[in-house]
Amino acid sequence: KQADIAMYQAKNQGENLYQFYVKENEYPATEHVDLYRKLRKALDNNEFVLVYQPQYDIASKEFIGVEALIRWNHPEKGLISPLQFIPFAEEVGLIVPIGKWVLHEACKQWRLWMDHFGRTFKMSVNLSSRQMYEPDLIELMTQILNETGMDPHYLEIEVTESITMNLDRATMLLSKLKGIGVSISIDDFGTGFSSLAYLKNFPIDRIKIDRTFIKDLSNDISDQNIVKTIIALGINLNLKVIAEGVESEEQLTLLNDYGCHEAQGYFLGLPMSADHIAKLI
Ligand code: C2E
Ligand code: MG
Ligand code: MG
Ligand code: MG
Repeated sequence: KQADIAMYQAKNQGENLYQFYVKENEYPATEHVDLYRKLRKALDNNEFVLVYQPQYDIASKEFIGVEALIRWNHPEKGLISPLQFIPFAEEVGLIVPIGKWVLHEACKQWRLWMDHFGRTFKMSVNLSSRQMYEPDLIELMTQILNETGMDPHYLEIEVTESITMNLDRATMLLSKLKGIGVSISIDDFGTGFSSLAYLKNFPIDRIKIDRTFIKDLSNDISDQNIVKTIIALGINLNLKVIAEGVESEEQLTLLNDYGCHEAQGYFLGLPMSADHIAKLI
């Protein structure tokens, strides 16, 4: 396992992209090995679960889909937030097998809902930039779609602006994803290091306004202007715009006034179990 970690680190250092992320000494060596082992075991023991957060069309108030979000159901500690293990999993490469599990589970669940309720809606899955470097990502995706019976037109992959650090690779990968019928959204839009040029080059379907711009939307004039501008940008580029982190009716009303298409957030629905989504449907 130590050799594995060293290998992943070496591999990561080789990618310019990763030098951005790997924070020196963030995880002391012993803790590092320990967490690696625990995450590996968690995957083997099936300790990860997905919760799903509903997304709505603002104008029609219609339920349009869900975002799959991972949790670690730790035997002693209970549910652990992805913020506590995804960055590490990305750093050591474990995000690749974990991400594969997430995709498979989300597609499987979508198909169960569809068979049970006879209706379709979108399933969004977060893809870490690290997964983009897997040479067989498209094959894997195709295989999962076939195996689970998920209709690719309802699958959306959420990527962050960090993928733009390797423009050529990202353009190629995203085009291939589009080629198999999957849609693409830019997550946490407005917070990354990137130019707007990629909006022109990438086959994007939707942008997700980061929740930091929504948090103080009711009082902060700058946030209001930024949000209005992002919405206008999306509309002008023929993209859907969804706001994340909507926590109040006031925020939702403003977003509606600005012409934002869709919303997701605690005010509309918490991330919940598959059973709860079934009740909601
Ligand atoms: P994200 O993709 O931007 O997901 C949205 C996060 O905002 C989720 O946190 C969600 O629970 C939270 N959220 C939703 N509505 C509200 C709200 O109204 N207010 C506030 N304050 N927060 C809200 P979560 O589930 O803790 O996930 C955190 C991040 O972890 C995600 O951010 C995503 O970047 C990453 N993540 C989660 N699941 C996966 C996964 O399966 N794969 C990968 N690669 N990353 C994942
Ligand atoms: Mg997301
Ligand atoms: Mg987000
Ligand atoms: Mg986020």
